[in-house]
Amino acid sequence: MLRHEKTEAEILHLHCEDRENLFSVGFRTPPADSTGIAHILEHSVLAGSEKYPVKDAFNELAKGTLQTFINAFTFPDKTVYPVASQVKADFFNLARVYADLVFHPLLHRETFLQEGHHLEFAVPEDIESNLTVSGIVYNEMKGAYSSPDNIMYKSLQQNLYPDTVYAYDSGGDPLVIPELTYSRLQAFHKAYYSPSNSRFFLYGDIPTREHLDFLAEILSGFKKLEMDSRIPSQPRFDAPARAHAYYPAGSDEGLRKKTVVNIAWALAETSNFDEVLPIQVVSEALVGSAAGPLRKALVDSGLGQDLSPVTGLSLDLKQINFAVGLRGTEPEWTGQIEGIIMETLRKAADEGIDRDIFEGALHQIEFSGKEIVRRYLPYSIILMQRAYYTWLYEGDPLLGLNFPRHIEKVRKRWKDNTSLFQEVIRKWFVDNPHRVVSVVEPSTTYLDEREESFRARMARKKAEMSRGELEKIRAESLDLRKKQAEPDSPSALRSLPELKISEIPREIETIPTRDLSIGGVPALAHEIFANGIAYIEFAFDVSDIPDDLQPYLYLLGKLSMGVGAAGMSYTEMAKRISLKTGGLGFHLASGMAADGKSNWQKLIVQLKALHRNASDAVGIASDLLCAADFSDKGRVRDLVLESKNRLHSSVVPSGHMFARRTAAAALSVPFYRDEQWNGRSQLQLLSAVSERFEERSEDILKNISRLYREVFRRERLLINITGDEEGISLLAEAAEKRLSGLPAAGKGIGPAQEPVLPPVYSGVIIPAEVSYVAKAVPAAFYGDSCAPALLVLSRVLSNNYLYKRIRVQGGAYGGMSLYDPLNGIFSFLSYRDPNLAATMRVYEEAPDFISRSGIDGRELDKAVIGTIGSIDRPMDPAGKGYTAMVRRFSRLTDDLRKQFREGVLDTSEKALLDSAEKVFFGGMAPSAVAVYAAENRLKAANETLTRKLKIEPLI
Ligand SMILES: [Zn+2]
Repeated sequence: MLRHEKTEAEILHLHCEDRENLFSVGFRTPPADSTGIAHILEHSVLAGSEKYPVKDAFNELAKGTLQTFINAFTFPDKTVYPVASQVKADFFNLARVYADLVFHPLLHRETFLQEGHHLEFAVPEDIESNLTVSGIVYNEMKGAYSSPDNIMYKSLQQNLYPDTVYAYDSGGDPLVIPELTYSRLQAFHKAYYSPSNSRFFLYGDIPTREHLDFLAEILSGFKKLEMDSRIPSQPRFDAPARAHAYYPAGSDEGLRKKTVVNIAWALAETSNFDEVLPIQVVSEALVGSAAGPLRKALVDSGLGQDLSPVTGLSLDLKQINFAVGLRGTEPEWTGQIEGIIMETLRKAADEGIDRDIFEGALHQIEFSGKEIVRRYLPYSIILMQRAYYTWLYEGDPLLGLNFPRHIEKVRKRWKDNTSLFQEVIRKWFVDNPHRVVSVVEPSTTYLDEREESFRARMARKKAEMSRGELEKIRAESLDLRKKQAEPDSPSALRSLPELKISEIPREIETIPTRDLSIGGVPALAHEIFANGIAYIEFAFDVSDIPDDLQPYLYLLGKLSMGVGAAGMSYTEMAKRISLKTGGLGFHLASGMAADGKSNWQKLIVQLKALHRNASDAVGIASDLLCAADFSDKGRVRDLVLESKNRLHSSVVPSGHMFARRTAAAALSVPFYRDEQWNGRSQLQLLSAVSERFEERSEDILKNISRLYREVFRRERLLINITGDEEGISLLAEAAEKRLSGLPAAGKGIGPAQEPVLPPVYSGVIIPAEVSYVAKAVPAAFYGDSCAPALLVLSRVLSNNYLYKRIRVQGGAYGGMSLYDPLNGIFSFLSYRDPNLAATMRVYEEAPDFISRSGIDGRELDKAVIGTIGSIDRPMDPAGKGYTAMVRRFSRLTDDLRKQFREGVLDTSEKALLDSAEKVFFGGMAPSAVAVYAAENRLKAANETLTRKLKIEPLI
């Protein structure tokens, strides 16, 4: 931990043996309104600096380097810019440019208009057409304001801390964003983006000395700037507050049981770790598992369908808060829900909670403090977050990082005072009036009303403008478009540091894999350091399950993992799971073989545990796989409802992935299965079942029991273990002993049949202010010689053509193409898109664009480097073990991978054009399209489309 003498910039370096180094600079950026000023600035600084005058420097860095992570985040009170790479030279290149962008941005007015907001006409050239607002952040936030979870989260934050910066939306409220001016944006940068207000977080194996030399370089010339960005605390309430909001609901779905009710408490100061940790234990104990008394009381009350997704402790504001509530309820039940919550807490404070539940909570906190997790984010970002909990509020950043010591400390306090946790519940929950009850109700008119009031406002605005003013708007928006379309000058592009293809290693990285047999069951073991944790997967083959039973596999997994077993109730099982495992789950996955000639389909049960619990953990899995008890109908109903609500609420936030699934299901068996298991078809099944549970439960359970007996058999099984040597042998031993109860072979459920894939050209109605447009095209498989070039092609299209047309010019939050060589599908996607038919045209013109404009050498190099960067993305221990297993299923050998990598590195312009030719003009099966959007948008699009979308309800 260091401080720069001249500017007082603070620097923290976590030095460790991880070659994925992270550079991150963060600023306290308290907003003074909801114009999204901090968020728009976050976008805008990335559009070039004096030294690197590239219009979209961020995108250039993202696409042409070996970065393993590059992004920027706006939080309610801070803005952070992290970038990571595994190659030292690349790392310093990235950090140098990133720091320069942040400290010396160009901040052109056009950037503000493009990223923030600007007025334009619905038909840009035509001043007779409607006046409207566009901007990337503006559309991004429209998407955020369509999600009920987001609306609830905002409602709680704004009403728990009404006298602080948290009363505003740092991301920006679409209704308020248009009030932001360019000069205020410049002033905000000047005030807050100074080294004196900065915190540098560095992580990885590069020696501190080298970082300091680098920092001296980028901080030179700066002086200390006096300013106060401290975040004030919210004065405590004398009485609870109430809040109310609406979210957009689909008109065909009805409004019954669609309300969310939450209570949230403002608790201790985040930097006061001695108070925070016991609250963390209490929070985990109350709602962390199905045995948690608060979770159980709410679910058992029957007043809602499942727990509100906005449940749990939130640590990233000045004062921590805890929220809990019910989803799928009615507004008039709010009082009862409140009563149950307070009564349960009072009882817990008076009588205490089962000791095992607290032990389980402590175990969960210990586990998550130990586990190395690297999925979408580098592990270092998780550590950075933990450091910021205290660091941002003048606390010690290392406080939250030493978990073993803290767990020891809290254990000791608990031993000395056995009512410690009861006292915490009384002080912070029962006797704490600083709380909010928030009700978020569905509204089928919400979107129309918002759009109507927006249209009326814009019409008024337009009516008040003179012809000259309207002409000016047209000229300015056309000028903006022109500037957006202009490429960067070659000299500007040359300012960015470049890596050469020859500097990239041609070798592939391999994952250690050893074949074993565990009690006659084939197994794979991957010896990888995992910090005292070991991982095991049980992969059951389900490819012969008949088509009509396939959709039930999801419920098979969900129910088997969630009910009671071996004579124990589900709460007893939940207690065991929380005490002895770091998590037990399942998912369904499918893919093609590398040659595209066959496919695999698996139900995979995943389990992780500390070494000391390996045997007990496998015992729990074995009880659930051999002796699950589906007779508790109430529990089955709760699990069905929870699944339905979770899937339903994920549609709008990840509309592009749902749309891709729906489209690609027309072209590929794995995607078809994915749609049945995890997509809209699954949502339809879960909705139908939960609508008429009483009537249908017998039938459903019959199917599930039949599948249970048939699927969980040794003949279908492959075991996959990841950990260090000790972890592997502990799990293998446990599996050998505990899985003997699993029956060997069944009588068969077949006959297996290849599903018939129906064509898709659909518009699926969702309640959202923006669209998600997906198109899927059949393409080559992994083993095909043109596959590497196709992967590069998808990057070229994403980085240039689609990025420009859909994001920069179209105003969508994202537009991209993805090539999935293991499924032989090439797809186009847009995300939070204000357009629909126009986006479909952009997709259609993609092949023309490629064949017409070709690709210049430097662009190709960048795409190749970026592609290698994405192939080389680091994985956590669990991810490595899982990936090695999937490669085995796909018969993806290291030889094939090496060939593929070399193919990518050697991609020529000709190979690129040939591969494009083959996909887009090669006479393959017709493409499929799925659009997820509001009904009026779909209908409007159909008026201009030659081939009409088949408009269907979501459910
Ligand atoms: Zn953004």
